[in-house]
Amino acid sequence: MNMSAQRDYYEVLGVERKATTVQITESYRRLAIRFHPDKNPGDSEAADRFKEAARAFEVLSDDNLRARYDRFGHAGLQGGPQHEFNDISDIFEAFGDMFGGGAFGEALSGGRRGSRARKGRDVFCSVSMSLLEAARGATKTVEFGRHEACGSCDGSGAKKGTQPVQCDYCAGRGQVIQQAGVFRLQTTCPACQGAGRIIREKCPSCSGEGLTEEQVERRVTIPAGVDRDVRVRLAGEGEPGANGGPPGDCYCVIEIEDHPFLTRDGRDLHCEVPITFSQAALGATVQVPTLDGAKPLEIKRGTQAGDVVRVRGLGMPEVRGRGIGDLHVHVHVEVPKSLSPRSEQLLRELAAEEQKSVSPKRSTFFSRLADYFQPRDPAGHDPGKNDHGTEEKT
Ligand SMILES: [Zn+2]
Ligand SMILES: [Zn+2]
Repeated sequence: MNMSAQRDYYEVLGVERKATTVQITESYRRLAIRFHPDKNPGDSEAADRFKEAARAFEVLSDDNLRARYDRFGHAGLQGGPQHEFNDISDIFEAFGDMFGGGAFGEALSGGRRGSRARKGRDVFCSVSMSLLEAARGATKTVEFGRHEACGSCDGSGAKKGTQPVQCDYCAGRGQVIQQAGVFRLQTTCPACQGAGRIIREKCPSCSGEGLTEEQVERRVTIPAGVDRDVRVRLAGEGEPGANGGPPGDCYCVIEIEDHPFLTRDGRDLHCEVPITFSQAALGATVQVPTLDGAKPLEIKRGTQAGDVVRVRGLGMPEVRGRGIGDLHVHVHVEVPKSLSPRSEQLLRELAAEEQKSVSPKRSTFFSRLADYFQPRDPAGHDPGKNDHGTEEKT
């Protein structure tokens, strides 16, 4: 199934984001019956809808996956634990109970489904770093929760000295055949929940789960150039696999702290630097923030407010690339709010000087402004003259 443009899972199931697990289950059940392949033979769109609903249900019916989906969207699930529903029969293996009726609700208990080897679930954690660490790369310590095989029972779930025994109900197969109306379905054994084995005496340390919840600390090497929401994988550090399957992975989602002076746009950095009016007019060397601290920058004579000076090579590196971005210095010309008597005197002299020789750009601007607001007279007076008959001065 090609689901490259993935629809929102809540939308797929037609439920609100606050929907309860019961509402989600009921909605999925309705859709599954409507798009059931037995009811829509040869209809590939119905088959796709059926699979899409199953995928949405798998995520939203699982508290852990749902929380991850709410936080990270589809990105939080990539490479994740969902079954690849390539085949309709996979869906029955996962949620077969839902169509059988009797064991409805069993599917929500999660845990052991079928006896096929499955890769463990991925876990997620976040890793916070400064902009400088992101630029240089860093090794960080992350902490995350996952399950590990219980030490008391070596993961069997059976009390020390006892062993799980074969399930009588399904003769150890983990699956039973159920007939429901026109549907003849293979569903998960309700007695052993698909494990094929029954634990008579549960291990007290893990209550028969075979797993205990652990908090794990790992070191993770973050490559230079990462941006926020990039995920760095710790292979094999996720949840343990089922029935001999490999463990899942741990994904560290990068968060980058705000820098007091620099903002990032991809591989480029931006900063704002205040200069005085006289520095703008005469040119100056000013200190600008960079990743390596303040550095001198030449401001050219005649720099305008809002001009951007581009400094090559002072941006962020590309992850696993050879390129490096630029630093864009946005020049902010500050107008003084209060003046010393001497400054005021100098500025008044400057103003007097400016009236005698208006700069070329200003003269064009003010003549254009005057043209724009010229009163238009429908009687046909010369628009170039005002009421007093004198020429407009610009
Ligand atoms: Zn145990
Ligand atoms: Zn069984």
